[in-house]
Amino acid sequence: MAADIIDGKAFAAGLRETVGVHAAAFAERAGRKAGLAVVLVGEDPASQVYVRSKHRATVEAGMESFEHRLPADTAEAALLALVERLNADPAVDGILVQLPLPGHLDEQAVIAAISPDKDVDGFHVTNAGRLAVGQDGFVPCTPLGCMMLLSDRLGDLSGLEAVVIGRSNIVGKPMAQLLLGANATVTIAHSRTKDLPGVVRRADIVVAAVGRAEMVKADWLKPGATVIDVGINRLPPVPGSDKGRLVGDVDFAGARDVAGAITPVPGGVGPMTIAVLLRNTLVAAYRNEGLDLPEGAL
Ligand code: NAP
Repeated sequence: MAADIIDGKAFAAGLRETVGVHAAAFAERAGRKAGLAVVLVGEDPASQVYVRSKHRATVEAGMESFEHRLPADTAEAALLALVERLNADPAVDGILVQLPLPGHLDEQAVIAAISPDKDVDGFHVTNAGRLAVGQDGFVPCTPLGCMMLLSDRLGDLSGLEAVVIGRSNIVGKPMAQLLLGANATVTIAHSRTKDLPGVVRRADIVVAAVGRAEMVKADWLKPGATVIDVGINRLPPVPGSDKGRLVGDVDFAGARDVAGAITPVPGGVGPMTIAVLLRNTLVAAYRNEGLDLPEGAL
C-alpha cells in the first residue's frame, strides 16, 4: 500500500491561521502588534526571495514586519550596531538575520549579538543550550516544524527508534534534541556513519537533512516507517526546460511503496519553516510583554 502523504502545506496553513488569531488577541491586549525585524545584507537572490516571503507572511498574520536591507559591503560594526538597536527596540519581538552573510562578516559573532529572547531563529548558543537541557527557549524553525508534523502523525513518540541523517546546527542537531525530548531513541547519522542503509533500516522515524538528491533509497527503510524529508535539491534541467525539478533527500517514488507516511518535496517540510517563524515571533511577543499565551495555543 502506498504511504500516506504528510501534507506540510496544509498543516502550515492551519498553523498560520492559528498564529493570526492569537496575533490579533495579542495586539488587543498589548496595544501594539507583535513585530519581526528581518535583516538582509547584500543581494543574494535566494535570500531576497526568502526575505520577501517572510515579510508577506508576517503582515498576513497581522504582525509588524521591519525590513532592514544593508549593502553587501556593510562593515561588521555597523551590522552589530543595528542588531543592538533592534535588541533595545520594544516594538521588535523577533530578530532574524538572513544567512548566509557576505564572507567578510562573522556569522557567529552576529548571531551572538542577538538577544536570546528575540532570537526567533533559535540559533543563539543560549537557545541551543536551553534546548539541550530542556528549558524553554527558541527552537530552530525547520526542526520544530518537523516535530509538529511527527507529533500530529504519530502522537506519542516514546520508545520509537528515530534516525536523523545530518548533524548541522540548524537542522540535524536540534532535530535530534527534540526527538530525545519526546522520549524517542535517537541516532544521529552523518557523512562518516558506517553502513548508513543498515542504520536507517532500524528506524520507525527517519529525518533526512543532508542536501543530497534522492540519496535515501526505498530499500533502506523499515516497512511502515514515517519519513520526514528536509532536503531541498534542484536536479539538472531536462532538455527543453530552463529549471530542473526540486527533489528531497529521499527517493520519494520508491519510498512511497515502503514507508507508512512521508513528506513530499515540495509541499512537506518547506512551508512549515515560515509558519514556525511566525509562531516563534508571536511567542516572543507574549513573553516580552509578560503575557501568558492561552494554554496549548501554539
Ligand atoms: P548541511 O549543513 O550541509 O549539513 C548536511 C549534513 O548532511 C551534514 O551533517 C553532513 O555530514 C551530512 N551528510 C552529507 N553527506 C552525507 C552522506 N553521504 N551520508 C550521510 N550524511 C551526509 O545542511 P543543512 O543546512 O542541515 O540542510 C540539509 C538539507 O536540508 C539541505 O538540502 C537544505 O537545503 C535543506 N533545508 C531545508 C529547509 C526547509 O525549510 N525545508 C531548511 C533548512 C535546510 P557531516 O557533518 O559529516 O559533514
